[in-house]
Amino acid sequence: MLLSSRVKGVADSITQQLNEKAQLLSEEGQVIYNLSAGQLPIKPPQEFIEKIQQQLNFLKSYQYSPVNGIPELRKKILQHHGATRQVKTEGLEAVFSNGSKQSIYIALGAVIDPGDEVILLAPYWVSYPEMVKFWGGVPVTVKSTAFDGFSPALEDIAKIITPRTKAIIVNSPNNPAGVHYPEKWMRAFADLMKEHPHMWILSDEVYSDLTYFDPAPTYFYQHAPELIDRTMVFGAISKSLASTGLRLGWTIAPKGATVAMGRIQGQATSGPSALIQRALLDFDLQHLNRFLEPVKVHLRRSANHVREKLKSSDLAQLWYQSHSAFYFMLDFSRTPMFARFAGEHPEKDYSKEICQELLEKHGVALVPGADFGLPNSARMSLTMEEVPFQEALHRLAIFLNTH
Ligand code: PLP
Repeated sequence: MLLSSRVKGVADSITQQLNEKAQLLSEEGQVIYNLSAGQLPIKPPQEFIEKIQQQLNFLKSYQYSPVNGIPELRKKILQHHGATRQVKTEGLEAVFSNGSKQSIYIALGAVIDPGDEVILLAPYWVSYPEMVKFWGGVPVTVKSTAFDGFSPALEDIAKIITPRTKAIIVNSPNNPAGVHYPEKWMRAFADLMKEHPHMWILSDEVYSDLTYFDPAPTYFYQHAPELIDRTMVFGAISKSLASTGLRLGWTIAPKGATVAMGRIQGQATSGPSALIQRALLDFDLQHLNRFLEPVKVHLRRSANHVREKLKSSDLAQLWYQSHSAFYFMLDFSRTPMFARFAGEHPEKDYSKEICQELLEKHGVALVPGADFGLPNSARMSLTMEEVPFQEALHRLAIFLNTH
Protein backbone atom coordinates (compact mmCIF):
# COMPACT_ATOMS: atom_id res chain seq x y z
CA MET A 1 0.00 0.00 0.00
CA LEU A 2 1.16 3.54 -0.70
CA LEU A 3 1.73 4.53 2.92
CA SER A 4 4.23 7.08 4.18
CA SER A 5 7.59 5.92 5.49
CA ARG A 6 6.77 7.90 8.63
CA VAL A 7 3.76 5.75 9.47
CA LYS A 8 5.59 2.56 8.51
CA GLY A 9 8.16 3.40 11.18
CA VAL A 10 5.55 3.40 13.96
CA ALA A 11 5.27 0.07 15.82
CA ASP A 12 2.00 -1.81 16.25
CA SER A 13 1.02 -2.22 19.86
CA ILE A 14 1.41 -5.75 21.28
CA THR A 15 -1.01 -4.67 24.00
CA GLN A 16 -3.78 -4.17 21.52
CA GLN A 17 -3.25 -7.62 19.98
CA LEU A 18 -3.43 -9.30 23.39
CA ASN A 19 -6.50 -7.29 24.38
CA GLU A 20 -8.27 -8.51 21.26
CA LYS A 21 -7.29 -12.08 22.12
CA ALA A 22 -8.59 -11.65 25.69
CA GLN A 23 -11.90 -10.36 24.36
CA LEU A 24 -12.20 -13.27 21.93
CA LEU A 25 -11.56 -15.86 24.66
CA SER A 26 -14.09 -14.14 26.89
CA GLU A 27 -16.71 -14.20 24.13
CA GLU A 28 -16.02 -17.91 23.71
CA GLY A 29 -17.06 -18.39 27.34
CA GLN A 30 -13.64 -18.62 29.05
CA VAL A 31 -13.28 -16.80 32.38
CA ILE A 32 -10.67 -14.10 31.80
CA TYR A 33 -8.96 -12.08 34.53
CA ASN A 34 -8.01 -8.98 32.65
CA LEU A 35 -5.24 -7.18 34.54
CA SER A 36 -4.26 -5.07 31.56
CA ALA A 37 -6.51 -2.08 32.32
CA GLY A 38 -5.04 1.41 32.10
CA GLN A 39 -8.08 3.06 33.65
CA LEU A 40 -10.16 3.03 36.82
CA PRO A 41 -13.22 0.74 36.64
CA ILE A 42 -15.55 3.37 38.13
CA LYS A 43 -17.56 6.39 36.99
CA PRO A 44 -16.33 9.96 37.66
CA PRO A 45 -17.46 11.77 40.84
CA GLN A 46 -21.20 12.50 40.85
CA GLU A 47 -20.49 16.25 41.20
CA PHE A 48 -18.59 16.18 37.90
CA ILE A 49 -21.30 14.17 36.13
CA GLU A 50 -23.86 16.74 37.29
CA LYS A 51 -21.75 19.60 35.90
CA ILE A 52 -21.64 17.85 32.53
CA GLN A 53 -25.41 17.38 32.63
CA GLN A 54 -25.96 21.07 33.43
CA GLN A 55 -23.68 22.18 30.61
CA LEU A 56 -25.72 20.15 28.13
CA ASN A 57 -28.25 23.01 28.19
CA PHE A 58 -25.91 25.65 26.76
CA LEU A 59 -25.31 26.38 23.09
CA LYS A 60 -21.63 27.13 23.79
CA SER A 61 -21.09 23.54 24.94
CA TYR A 62 -21.70 22.44 21.36
CA GLN A 63 -19.50 25.00 19.63
CA TYR A 64 -15.76 25.28 18.94
CA SER A 65 -13.72 26.21 21.98
CA PRO A 66 -10.73 28.55 21.57
CA VAL A 67 -7.83 26.47 20.18
CA ASN A 68 -5.80 26.42 23.40
CA GLY A 69 -8.83 26.02 25.64
CA ILE A 70 -11.32 28.24 27.45
CA PRO A 71 -9.31 31.14 28.99
CA GLU A 72 -10.94 30.90 32.47
CA LEU A 73 -10.24 27.18 32.60
CA ARG A 74 -6.64 27.72 31.53
CA LYS A 75 -6.27 30.18 34.41
CA LYS A 76 -7.96 27.81 36.84
CA ILE A 77 -5.67 24.87 36.05
CA LEU A 78 -2.57 27.07 36.16
CA GLN A 79 -3.60 28.24 39.64
CA HIS A 80 -4.29 24.65 40.67
CA HIS A 81 -0.82 23.67 39.45
CA GLY A 82 0.81 26.52 41.41
CA ALA A 83 -1.14 25.66 44.56
CA THR A 84 -0.68 21.88 44.51
CA ARG A 85 3.02 22.00 43.58
CA GLN A 86 3.77 25.12 45.65
CA VAL A 87 5.55 26.80 42.73
CA LYS A 88 5.36 30.20 41.07
CA THR A 89 3.58 30.29 37.74
CA GLU A 90 4.70 33.64 36.27
CA GLY A 91 5.58 33.27 32.60
CA LEU A 92 3.66 30.00 32.35
CA GLU A 93 0.40 29.19 30.58
CA ALA A 94 -1.93 26.22 30.28
CA VAL A 95 -3.04 24.65 26.99
CA PHE A 96 -5.92 22.15 26.88
CA SER A 97 -5.90 19.24 24.43
CA ASN A 98 -7.86 16.06 23.66
CA GLY A 99 -6.26 14.10 26.50
CA SER A 100 -2.70 14.42 27.72
CA LYS A 101 -1.65 12.02 24.97
CA GLN A 102 -2.30 14.79 22.50
CA SER A 103 -0.66 17.30 24.85
CA ILE A 104 2.57 15.28 24.86
CA TYR A 105 2.36 14.69 21.14
CA ILE A 106 2.08 18.37 20.23
CA ALA A 107 4.64 19.36 22.85
CA LEU A 108 7.16 17.03 21.17
CA GLY A 109 6.16 18.51 17.82
CA ALA A 110 6.88 21.97 19.17
CA VAL A 111 10.46 21.13 20.24
CA ILE A 112 11.84 18.28 18.09
CA ASP A 113 13.74 18.76 14.84
CA PRO A 114 14.56 15.69 12.73
CA GLY A 115 17.54 13.86 14.23
CA ASP A 116 17.12 15.32 17.70
CA GLU A 117 17.57 12.86 20.54
CA VAL A 118 14.97 12.46 23.28
CA ILE A 119 15.89 10.56 26.46
CA LEU A 120 13.30 8.10 27.77
CA LEU A 121 13.51 6.43 31.17
CA ALA A 122 12.52 2.76 30.89
CA PRO A 123 10.17 1.37 31.81
CA TYR A 124 8.33 4.17 30.02
CA TRP A 125 4.80 4.77 28.80
CA VAL A 126 4.33 2.90 25.49
CA SER A 127 3.55 5.93 23.35
CA TYR A 128 6.70 8.02 24.03
CA PRO A 129 9.10 6.32 21.58
CA GLU A 130 6.53 6.17 18.80
CA MET A 131 5.63 9.85 19.25
CA VAL A 132 9.28 10.87 19.23
CA LYS A 133 9.90 8.88 16.04
CA PHE A 134 6.81 10.30 14.38
CA TRP A 135 8.30 13.81 14.67
CA GLY A 136 11.63 12.55 13.28
CA GLY A 137 13.34 12.38 16.65
CA VAL A 138 15.53 9.57 17.98
CA PRO A 139 14.53 7.94 21.29
CA VAL A 140 17.49 7.11 23.56
CA THR A 141 16.75 4.94 26.57
CA VAL A 142 18.07 4.61 30.12
CA LYS A 143 16.84 1.49 31.91
CA SER A 144 15.96 0.77 35.52
CA THR A 145 14.75 -2.43 37.18
CA ALA A 146 12.96 -3.61 40.31
CA PHE A 147 16.45 -3.91 41.96
CA ASP A 148 16.81 -0.13 42.00
CA GLY A 149 13.11 0.43 42.78
CA PHE A 150 12.68 1.53 39.14
CA SER A 151 14.60 4.77 39.64
CA PRO A 152 17.04 5.14 36.74
CA ALA A 153 20.65 5.90 37.69
CA LEU A 154 21.51 9.56 37.19
CA GLU A 155 25.03 8.67 36.05
CA ASP A 156 23.45 6.65 33.22
CA ILE A 157 21.37 9.65 32.18
CA ALA A 158 24.38 11.98 32.36
CA LYS A 159 26.37 9.60 30.15
CA ILE A 160 23.95 9.67 27.21
CA ILE A 161 23.37 13.43 27.05
CA THR A 162 24.90 14.82 23.85
CA PRO A 163 24.67 18.20 22.06
CA ARG A 164 21.84 16.58 20.01
CA THR A 165 19.76 15.79 23.10
CA LYS A 166 16.73 18.05 22.79
CA ALA A 167 14.55 16.71 25.60
CA ILE A 168 14.02 14.15 28.35
CA ILE A 169 10.66 12.76 29.42
CA VAL A 170 10.15 12.11 33.12
CA ASN A 171 7.03 10.21 34.17
CA SER A 172 6.72 10.15 37.94
CA PRO A 173 4.42 8.66 39.27
CA ASN A 174 5.28 6.11 36.64
CA ASN A 175 3.28 3.97 34.28
CA PRO A 176 4.10 1.01 34.25
CA ALA A 177 6.33 0.74 37.36
CA GLY A 178 3.76 2.07 39.84
CA VAL A 179 6.35 4.14 41.71
CA HIS A 180 7.37 7.77 41.90
CA TYR A 181 11.04 8.70 41.99
CA PRO A 182 12.30 9.61 45.49
CA GLU A 183 12.88 13.22 46.49
CA LYS A 184 16.64 12.59 46.59
CA TRP A 185 16.48 11.49 42.96
CA MET A 186 14.44 14.56 41.98
CA ARG A 187 16.95 16.89 43.64
CA ALA A 188 19.92 15.23 41.93
CA PHE A 189 18.04 15.20 38.62
CA ALA A 190 17.35 18.94 38.96
CA ASP A 191 21.10 19.52 39.53
CA LEU A 192 21.92 17.48 36.43
CA MET A 193 19.43 19.40 34.31
CA LYS A 194 20.89 22.72 35.47
CA GLU A 195 24.15 21.63 33.77
CA HIS A 196 22.41 21.13 30.40
CA PRO A 197 20.59 24.31 29.44
CA HIS A 198 20.01 23.07 25.86
CA MET A 199 17.43 20.51 27.00
CA TRP A 200 13.68 20.60 27.51
CA ILE A 201 12.28 18.57 30.40
CA LEU A 202 8.84 17.05 29.84
CA SER A 203 7.19 16.01 33.10
CA ASP A 204 4.25 13.66 32.60
CA GLU A 205 2.25 13.94 35.82
CA VAL A 206 -1.05 12.31 34.86
CA TYR A 207 -0.88 10.03 37.94
CA SER A 208 0.10 12.76 40.42
CA ASP A 209 -3.17 12.42 42.41
CA LEU A 210 -2.89 8.65 42.65
CA THR A 211 -0.31 7.91 45.30
CA TYR A 212 -1.29 5.48 48.04
CA PHE A 213 1.84 5.14 50.22
CA ASP A 214 3.99 7.95 51.66
CA PRO A 215 6.15 9.86 50.98
CA ALA A 216 4.20 11.91 48.45
CA PRO A 217 5.89 12.67 45.11
CA THR A 218 7.98 15.77 44.57
CA TYR A 219 8.97 17.25 41.22
CA PHE A 220 12.40 18.44 40.04
CA TYR A 221 11.25 22.01 39.32
CA GLN A 222 10.18 22.40 42.96
CA HIS A 223 13.84 21.94 43.88
CA ALA A 224 15.17 24.16 41.06
CA PRO A 225 12.60 26.81 40.05
CA GLU A 226 15.02 28.16 37.40
CA LEU A 227 14.22 25.04 35.32
CA ILE A 228 10.65 26.20 34.87
CA ASP A 229 11.37 28.10 31.66
CA ARG A 230 12.27 24.86 29.84
CA THR A 231 9.87 22.52 31.60
CA MET A 232 6.50 21.30 30.31
CA VAL A 233 4.13 19.59 32.74
CA PHE A 234 1.28 17.35 31.58
CA GLY A 235 -1.92 16.55 33.47
CA ALA A 236 -5.35 15.15 32.65
CA ILE A 237 -8.76 14.24 33.98
CA SER A 238 -8.31 10.69 32.62
CA LYS A 239 -6.88 9.05 35.73
CA SER A 240 -7.73 11.55 38.51
CA LEU A 241 -11.39 11.87 37.55
CA ALA A 242 -11.81 8.37 36.06
CA SER A 243 -12.61 9.98 32.71
CA THR A 244 -10.40 8.43 30.04
CA GLY A 245 -13.22 8.56 27.51
CA LEU A 246 -13.93 12.29 27.89
CA ARG A 247 -10.51 13.20 26.42
CA LEU A 248 -9.27 16.24 28.27
CA GLY A 249 -5.67 16.89 29.22
CA TRP A 250 -3.43 19.90 29.63
CA THR A 251 0.10 21.24 29.44
CA ILE A 252 1.64 23.86 31.71
CA ALA A 253 4.55 25.43 29.85
CA PRO A 254 6.35 28.72 29.17
CA LYS A 255 4.33 31.08 26.96
CA GLY A 256 6.40 30.67 23.78
CA ALA A 257 5.97 26.90 23.91
CA THR A 258 2.21 27.11 24.43
CA VAL A 259 1.89 29.40 21.39
CA ALA A 260 3.85 26.87 19.28
CA MET A 261 1.69 24.01 20.55
CA GLY A 262 -1.45 26.01 19.70
CA ARG A 263 -0.20 26.37 16.14
CA ILE A 264 -0.05 22.58 15.72
CA GLN A 265 -3.32 21.97 17.55
CA GLY A 266 -5.14 24.67 15.61
CA GLN A 267 -4.33 23.03 12.29
CA ALA A 268 -4.78 19.46 13.47
CA THR A 269 -7.76 19.11 15.82
CA SER A 270 -8.84 22.60 17.02
CA GLY A 271 -9.60 23.00 20.73
CA PRO A 272 -10.83 20.04 22.82
CA SER A 273 -14.46 19.38 23.81
CA ALA A 274 -16.17 22.61 24.86
CA LEU A 275 -18.71 20.63 26.91
CA ILE A 276 -16.13 18.89 29.08
CA GLN A 277 -14.04 22.03 29.51
CA ARG A 278 -17.10 23.98 30.67
CA ALA A 279 -18.01 21.21 33.12
CA LEU A 280 -14.45 21.16 34.50
CA LEU A 281 -14.50 24.95 34.84
CA ASP A 282 -17.58 24.62 37.06
CA PHE A 283 -16.27 21.63 39.00
CA ASP A 284 -14.69 22.17 42.41
CA LEU A 285 -11.31 20.42 42.31
CA GLN A 286 -11.51 20.06 46.11
CA HIS A 287 -13.76 17.04 45.48
CA LEU A 288 -10.79 15.17 44.04
CA ASN A 289 -9.35 13.94 47.33
CA ARG A 290 -12.67 12.67 48.63
CA PHE A 291 -13.32 10.87 45.35
CA LEU A 292 -9.89 9.23 45.25
CA GLU A 293 -9.72 8.17 48.91
CA PRO A 294 -11.55 4.81 48.44
CA VAL A 295 -9.54 4.24 45.25
CA LYS A 296 -6.33 4.58 47.24
CA VAL A 297 -7.61 2.23 49.95
CA HIS A 298 -8.28 -0.31 47.21
CA LEU A 299 -4.84 0.12 45.60
CA ARG A 300 -3.13 -0.23 48.98
CA ARG A 301 -5.01 -3.47 49.61
CA SER A 302 -4.17 -4.82 46.14
CA ALA A 303 -0.49 -3.94 46.58
CA ASN A 304 -0.51 -5.80 49.91
CA HIS A 305 -2.11 -8.85 48.28
CA VAL A 306 0.65 -8.84 45.67
CA ARG A 307 3.29 -8.78 48.40
CA GLU A 308 1.63 -11.57 50.40
CA LYS A 309 1.07 -13.76 47.36
CA LEU A 310 4.62 -13.40 46.06
CA LYS A 311 6.03 -14.17 49.52
CA SER A 312 3.83 -17.19 50.16
CA SER A 313 4.58 -18.59 46.68
CA ASP A 314 8.39 -18.49 46.94
CA LEU A 315 8.45 -15.57 44.53
CA ALA A 316 9.59 -12.89 46.99
CA GLN A 317 12.45 -12.01 44.62
CA LEU A 318 9.86 -10.33 42.37
CA TRP A 319 8.60 -7.98 45.03
CA TYR A 320 9.30 -4.26 45.32
CA GLN A 321 7.19 -1.60 46.99
CA SER A 322 4.77 -0.02 44.53
CA HIS A 323 3.22 3.20 45.83
CA SER A 324 1.54 5.16 43.03
CA ALA A 325 -0.43 4.97 39.79
CA PHE A 326 -2.18 1.59 39.61
CA TYR A 327 0.37 -0.87 38.27
CA PHE A 328 2.97 -3.43 39.30
CA MET A 329 5.78 -4.77 37.07
CA LEU A 330 6.60 -8.48 37.13
CA ASP A 331 10.13 -9.50 36.15
CA PHE A 332 9.72 -12.87 34.40
CA SER A 333 13.45 -13.42 34.07
CA ARG A 334 13.65 -14.14 37.79
CA THR A 335 10.99 -16.86 37.88
CA PRO A 336 11.26 -20.67 37.52
CA MET A 337 8.95 -20.46 34.47
CA PHE A 338 11.43 -18.38 32.48
CA ALA A 339 13.90 -21.18 31.68
CA ARG A 340 11.19 -22.95 29.70
CA PHE A 341 10.91 -19.97 27.33
CA ALA A 342 14.42 -18.61 27.26
CA GLY A 343 16.42 -21.84 27.00
CA GLU A 344 19.73 -21.01 25.35
CA HIS A 345 18.90 -17.35 24.72
CA PRO A 346 17.97 -15.57 27.96
CA GLU A 347 19.06 -12.25 26.40
CA LYS A 348 16.10 -12.23 23.97
CA ASP A 349 12.66 -10.87 24.80
CA TYR A 350 9.89 -13.43 25.37
CA SER A 351 7.36 -11.19 27.10
CA LYS A 352 4.83 -11.50 24.30
CA GLU A 353 5.00 -15.33 24.18
CA ILE A 354 4.87 -15.57 27.97
CA CYS A 355 1.82 -13.28 28.21
CA GLN A 356 0.17 -15.22 25.43
CA GLU A 357 0.55 -18.55 27.23
CA LEU A 358 -0.56 -17.03 30.54
CA LEU A 359 -3.71 -15.78 28.84
CA GLU A 360 -4.53 -18.93 26.88
CA LYS A 361 -3.75 -21.50 29.60
CA HIS A 362 -4.56 -19.61 32.80
CA GLY A 363 -6.98 -16.89 31.67
CA VAL A 364 -4.91 -13.98 33.05
CA ALA A 365 -4.21 -10.98 30.79
CA LEU A 366 -1.16 -8.78 31.45
CA VAL A 367 0.59 -6.21 29.27
CA PRO A 368 3.98 -7.43 27.95
CA GLY A 369 6.95 -5.39 29.11
CA ALA A 370 8.39 -5.13 25.60
CA ASP A 371 5.97 -2.26 24.95
CA PHE A 372 7.42 -0.41 27.94
CA GLY A 373 11.06 -0.92 27.01
CA LEU A 374 11.54 -3.60 29.68
CA PRO A 375 12.02 -7.04 28.09
CA ASN A 376 10.87 -10.23 29.81
CA SER A 377 8.49 -8.48 32.15
CA ALA A 378 4.81 -7.56 32.22
CA ARG A 379 2.56 -4.90 33.70
CA MET A 380 -0.21 -5.92 36.04
CA SER A 381 -3.05 -3.57 36.91
CA LEU A 382 -4.12 -3.31 40.58
CA THR A 383 -7.62 -1.99 39.95
CA MET A 384 -9.63 -5.25 39.82
CA GLU A 385 -12.06 -6.08 42.64
CA GLU A 386 -10.55 -7.95 45.57
CA VAL A 387 -11.93 -11.50 45.13
CA PRO A 388 -11.24 -11.94 41.40
CA PHE A 389 -7.90 -10.16 41.87
CA GLN A 390 -6.85 -12.76 44.43
CA GLU A 391 -7.90 -15.56 42.10
CA ALA A 392 -5.88 -13.94 39.29
CA LEU A 393 -2.84 -13.73 41.59
CA HIS A 394 -3.28 -17.38 42.50
CA ARG A 395 -3.29 -18.43 38.83
CA LEU A 396 -0.36 -16.16 38.09
CA ALA A 397 1.74 -17.65 40.90
CA ILE A 398 1.08 -21.20 39.65
CA PHE A 399 2.15 -20.16 36.15
CA LEU A 400 5.31 -18.36 37.34
CA ASN A 401 6.39 -21.42 39.33
CA THR A 402 5.81 -23.93 36.52
CA HIS A 403 9.16 -25.16 35.28
N1 PLP B 1 0.82 9.54 30.20
C1 PLP B 1 0.81 8.33 30.80
C2 PLP B 1 1.96 7.95 31.64
C3 PLP B 1 -0.28 7.47 30.65
O1 PLP B 1 -0.29 6.29 31.26
C4 PLP B 1 -1.36 7.89 29.83
C5 PLP B 1 -2.49 6.99 29.58
O2 PLP B 1 -2.50 5.82 29.87
C6 PLP B 1 -1.31 9.14 29.23
C7 PLP B 1 -0.19 9.96 29.42
C8 PLP B 1 -2.40 9.67 28.34
O3 PLP B 1 -3.58 9.84 29.02
P1 PLP B 1 -4.80 10.65 28.39
O4 PLP B 1 -4.50 10.93 26.96
O5 PLP B 1 -5.97 9.76 28.57
O6 PLP B 1 -4.89 11.92 29.19
